[in-house]
Amino acid sequence: MSDTRVFVGDLTRKEFRERMNAGTIKAAIVPAAATEQHNEHLEMIHDTLHVTYMAEQAAKVLHPQVVVASPIAIGVSEHWMEHVGTLTVRPEVFCEYVFDVCHSLKRAGIENILILNGHGGNVKPLMRRIGEYRDKLKVNLRFQSYWDVYDPTLVFDLMEHNRLPGHACEFETSTMLVLAPERVHKEDLDHESAALGTKQKGEQLLQPAVDGVSEILRKMIAGEDVDAPPVTFREGGRIHMITGDSV
Ligand SMILES: [Zn+2]
Repeated sequence: MSDTRVFVGDLTRKEFRERMNAGTIKAAIVPAAATEQHNEHLEMIHDTLHVTYMAEQAAKVLHPQVVVASPIAIGVSEHWMEHVGTLTVRPEVFCEYVFDVCHSLKRAGIENILILNGHGGNVKPLMRRIGEYRDKLKVNLRFQSYWDVYDPTLVFDLMEHNRLPGHACEFETSTMLVLAPERVHKEDLDHESAALGTKQKGEQLLQPAVDGVSEILRKMIAGEDVDAPPVTFREGGRIHMITGDSV
Protein backbone atom coordinates (compact mmCIF):
# COMPACT_ATOMS: atom_id res chain seq x y z
CA MET A 1 0.00 0.00 0.00
CA SER A 2 1.37 3.43 -0.84
CA ASP A 3 2.32 5.80 1.97
CA THR A 4 -0.16 8.65 2.12
CA ARG A 5 0.49 9.78 5.70
CA VAL A 6 0.34 13.56 6.00
CA PHE A 7 0.11 14.30 9.74
CA VAL A 8 3.40 15.28 11.36
CA GLY A 9 2.44 13.15 14.35
CA ASP A 10 2.11 10.06 12.17
CA LEU A 11 5.75 10.24 11.05
CA THR A 12 8.77 9.12 13.02
CA ARG A 13 11.47 11.69 13.56
CA LYS A 14 13.62 9.71 11.11
CA GLU A 15 10.97 9.83 8.42
CA PHE A 16 10.37 13.55 8.94
CA ARG A 17 14.11 14.35 8.95
CA GLU A 18 14.78 12.32 5.81
CA ARG A 19 11.92 14.02 3.97
CA MET A 20 13.20 17.44 4.98
CA ASN A 21 16.77 16.59 4.00
CA ALA A 22 15.59 15.31 0.63
CA GLY A 23 13.62 18.52 0.02
CA THR A 24 10.39 16.54 -0.22
CA ILE A 25 8.35 18.55 2.29
CA LYS A 26 7.64 22.00 0.91
CA ALA A 27 4.73 23.27 3.00
CA ALA A 28 2.78 22.69 6.20
CA ILE A 29 -0.80 23.28 7.27
CA VAL A 30 -1.65 24.29 10.83
CA PRO A 31 -5.35 23.47 11.35
CA ALA A 32 -6.99 25.76 13.93
CA ALA A 33 -10.56 25.55 15.13
CA ALA A 34 -12.63 25.24 18.30
CA THR A 35 -14.48 23.08 20.78
CA GLU A 36 -17.72 24.97 21.27
CA GLN A 37 -21.48 24.68 21.34
CA HIS A 38 -23.02 23.94 17.95
CA ASN A 39 -26.71 24.31 18.74
CA GLU A 40 -28.62 21.36 20.13
CA HIS A 41 -27.97 18.91 17.31
CA LEU A 42 -24.26 19.11 16.33
CA GLU A 43 -21.33 17.97 18.45
CA MET A 44 -18.91 20.49 19.89
CA ILE A 45 -15.97 19.02 17.95
CA HIS A 46 -17.58 20.18 14.70
CA ASP A 47 -15.15 22.90 13.58
CA THR A 48 -12.05 20.93 14.54
CA LEU A 49 -13.27 17.82 12.76
CA HIS A 50 -14.03 19.80 9.61
CA VAL A 51 -10.81 21.78 9.39
CA THR A 52 -8.78 18.64 10.06
CA TYR A 53 -10.59 16.88 7.23
CA MET A 54 -9.94 19.79 4.84
CA ALA A 55 -6.27 19.94 5.83
CA GLU A 56 -5.76 16.20 5.45
CA GLN A 57 -7.48 15.98 2.07
CA ALA A 58 -5.74 19.08 0.68
CA ALA A 59 -2.35 17.75 1.83
CA LYS A 60 -3.09 14.41 0.16
CA VAL A 61 -3.71 16.15 -3.17
CA LEU A 62 -0.11 17.43 -3.02
CA HIS A 63 1.40 14.44 -1.24
CA PRO A 64 4.24 14.14 -0.26
CA GLN A 65 4.95 17.90 -0.43
CA VAL A 66 2.60 18.98 2.37
CA VAL A 67 2.42 17.92 6.00
CA VAL A 68 -0.29 18.72 8.56
CA ALA A 69 0.51 19.81 12.11
CA SER A 70 -1.58 18.50 15.00
CA PRO A 71 -4.88 20.45 15.05
CA ILE A 72 -5.35 23.29 17.52
CA ALA A 73 -8.68 22.17 18.89
CA ILE A 74 -9.55 25.01 21.28
CA GLY A 75 -9.94 28.52 19.91
CA VAL A 76 -11.47 31.87 20.76
CA SER A 77 -15.04 31.11 21.81
CA GLU A 78 -15.75 33.57 24.62
CA HIS A 79 -18.99 34.55 22.87
CA TRP A 80 -20.46 31.08 23.49
CA MET A 81 -19.50 30.60 27.13
CA GLU A 82 -23.13 30.94 28.22
CA HIS A 83 -23.54 27.42 26.75
CA VAL A 84 -21.73 25.19 29.20
CA GLY A 85 -19.29 22.76 27.69
CA THR A 86 -17.78 25.35 25.37
CA LEU A 87 -14.01 25.61 25.82
CA THR A 88 -12.20 28.87 25.13
CA VAL A 89 -8.79 30.50 25.38
CA ARG A 90 -8.00 34.21 25.45
CA PRO A 91 -7.31 35.66 21.98
CA GLU A 92 -3.71 36.52 22.87
CA VAL A 93 -3.08 32.97 24.15
CA PHE A 94 -4.56 31.47 21.00
CA CYS A 95 -2.48 33.69 18.70
CA GLU A 96 0.76 33.06 20.59
CA TYR A 97 0.11 29.31 20.58
CA VAL A 98 -0.46 29.35 16.82
CA PHE A 99 2.70 31.41 16.41
CA ASP A 100 4.77 28.91 18.37
CA VAL A 101 3.50 26.02 16.27
CA CYS A 102 4.41 27.94 13.10
CA HIS A 103 7.78 28.79 14.62
CA SER A 104 8.43 25.09 15.25
CA LEU A 105 7.72 24.35 11.59
CA LYS A 106 10.02 27.14 10.48
CA ARG A 107 12.76 25.76 12.77
CA ALA A 108 12.30 22.42 10.99
CA GLY A 109 13.04 24.23 7.74
CA ILE A 110 9.54 24.64 6.30
CA GLU A 111 9.21 27.84 4.27
CA ASN A 112 5.49 27.78 3.37
CA ILE A 113 2.97 27.65 6.21
CA LEU A 114 -0.81 27.85 5.88
CA ILE A 115 -2.77 28.41 9.08
CA LEU A 116 -6.07 26.83 8.01
CA ASN A 117 -8.95 28.02 10.11
CA GLY A 118 -12.30 26.38 10.78
CA HIS A 119 -13.87 28.70 13.37
CA GLY A 120 -15.15 32.26 12.86
CA GLY A 121 -14.08 33.50 16.31
CA ASN A 122 -10.42 32.95 15.44
CA VAL A 123 -10.43 35.16 12.34
CA LYS A 124 -10.21 38.67 13.76
CA PRO A 125 -7.64 37.89 16.47
CA LEU A 126 -5.30 36.20 13.98
CA MET A 127 -5.84 38.73 11.21
CA ARG A 128 -4.61 41.39 13.62
CA ARG A 129 -1.34 39.49 14.15
CA ILE A 130 -0.63 37.79 10.82
CA GLY A 131 1.50 40.60 9.38
CA GLU A 132 3.61 40.76 12.52
CA TYR A 133 4.03 36.98 12.54
CA ARG A 134 5.03 36.96 8.87
CA ASP A 135 7.72 39.56 9.59
CA LYS A 136 9.01 37.66 12.60
CA LEU A 137 9.10 34.23 10.99
CA LYS A 138 10.32 35.36 7.58
CA VAL A 139 8.44 32.59 5.83
CA ASN A 140 5.58 32.53 3.34
CA LEU A 141 2.83 32.54 5.98
CA ARG A 142 -0.89 32.74 5.25
CA PHE A 143 -4.05 32.63 7.31
CA GLN A 144 -7.23 31.42 5.60
CA SER A 145 -10.50 29.88 6.63
CA TYR A 146 -11.37 26.89 4.48
CA TRP A 147 -14.56 28.60 3.30
CA ASP A 148 -12.60 31.58 1.86
CA VAL A 149 -12.03 29.52 -1.27
CA TYR A 150 -15.67 29.05 -2.28
CA ASP A 151 -17.02 30.41 -5.54
CA PRO A 152 -19.80 32.80 -4.41
CA THR A 153 -22.06 31.53 -7.19
CA LEU A 154 -21.94 28.01 -5.76
CA VAL A 155 -22.65 29.28 -2.25
CA PHE A 156 -25.58 31.47 -3.17
CA ASP A 157 -27.08 28.92 -5.58
CA LEU A 158 -26.93 26.14 -3.02
CA MET A 159 -27.51 27.78 0.37
CA GLU A 160 -31.18 28.64 0.79
CA HIS A 161 -30.29 30.94 3.70
CA ASN A 162 -27.18 32.25 1.89
CA ARG A 163 -25.13 32.06 5.09
CA LEU A 164 -21.75 30.39 5.04
CA PRO A 165 -20.22 29.30 7.31
CA GLY A 166 -22.99 30.53 9.64
CA HIS A 167 -23.09 28.65 12.90
CA ALA A 168 -24.43 25.12 13.22
CA CYS A 169 -27.01 25.89 10.57
CA GLU A 170 -27.60 24.94 6.93
CA PHE A 171 -23.95 24.70 5.82
CA GLU A 172 -22.44 22.90 8.79
CA THR A 173 -25.35 20.50 9.11
CA SER A 174 -25.06 19.64 5.39
CA THR A 175 -21.34 18.90 5.43
CA MET A 176 -21.53 16.89 8.65
CA LEU A 177 -24.30 14.77 7.12
CA VAL A 178 -21.63 13.65 4.64
CA LEU A 179 -18.54 13.41 6.85
CA ALA A 180 -20.13 11.79 9.90
CA PRO A 181 -23.94 11.54 9.81
CA GLU A 182 -23.97 9.86 13.22
CA ARG A 183 -22.72 13.17 14.65
CA VAL A 184 -25.90 14.97 13.50
CA HIS A 185 -28.40 14.42 16.31
CA LYS A 186 -31.53 14.88 14.24
CA GLU A 187 -33.87 14.22 17.15
CA ASP A 188 -32.57 17.43 18.75
CA LEU A 189 -32.56 19.57 15.60
CA ASP A 190 -34.64 22.61 16.54
CA HIS A 191 -33.05 25.28 14.36
CA GLU A 192 -34.86 26.63 11.31
CA SER A 193 -31.77 27.08 9.12
CA ALA A 194 -30.16 23.82 10.20
CA ALA A 195 -33.33 22.02 9.07
CA LEU A 196 -32.41 23.11 5.51
CA GLY A 197 -29.20 21.08 5.71
CA THR A 198 -29.03 18.05 3.41
CA LYS A 199 -26.45 15.44 2.55
CA GLN A 200 -26.77 16.43 -1.10
CA LYS A 201 -25.75 20.03 -0.35
CA GLY A 202 -22.87 18.76 1.76
CA GLU A 203 -21.62 16.58 -1.08
CA GLN A 204 -21.52 19.57 -3.41
CA LEU A 205 -19.65 21.71 -0.88
CA LEU A 206 -16.87 19.47 0.43
CA GLN A 207 -14.78 18.86 -2.68
CA PRO A 208 -14.62 22.50 -3.85
CA ALA A 209 -13.22 23.44 -0.43
CA VAL A 210 -10.55 20.72 -0.60
CA ASP A 211 -9.68 21.75 -4.16
CA GLY A 212 -9.49 25.43 -3.20
CA VAL A 213 -7.27 24.83 -0.18
CA SER A 214 -4.91 22.59 -2.14
CA GLU A 215 -4.73 25.24 -4.88
CA ILE A 216 -3.67 27.85 -2.29
CA LEU A 217 -0.90 25.50 -1.16
CA ARG A 218 0.18 24.80 -4.72
CA LYS A 219 0.48 28.53 -5.35
CA MET A 220 2.37 29.10 -2.11
CA ILE A 221 4.87 26.38 -3.01
CA ALA A 222 5.24 27.78 -6.53
CA GLY A 223 5.79 31.29 -5.15
CA GLU A 224 2.64 32.59 -6.86
CA ASP A 225 0.36 35.27 -5.42
CA VAL A 226 -2.76 34.08 -3.62
CA ASP A 227 -5.86 36.22 -3.98
CA ALA A 228 -8.25 34.86 -1.36
CA PRO A 229 -9.29 37.52 1.14
CA PRO A 230 -10.96 36.22 4.31
CA VAL A 231 -14.71 36.30 3.76
CA THR A 232 -18.06 35.21 5.07
CA PHE A 233 -21.14 34.81 2.91
CA ARG A 234 -24.28 36.56 4.13
CA GLU A 235 -28.00 36.91 3.46
CA GLY A 236 -28.99 38.64 0.27
CA GLY A 237 -25.92 37.41 -1.61
CA ARG A 238 -23.56 39.71 0.28
CA ILE A 239 -19.90 38.80 0.67
CA HIS A 240 -18.36 40.24 3.79
CA MET A 241 -14.60 40.74 3.37
CA ILE A 242 -12.39 40.83 6.43
CA THR A 243 -9.27 42.87 5.81
CA GLY A 244 -6.48 43.99 8.11
CA ASP A 245 -8.19 47.41 8.22
CA SER A 246 -11.65 46.18 9.14
CA VAL A 247 -10.72 44.00 12.10
ZN1 LIG B 1 -18.91 25.69 13.45
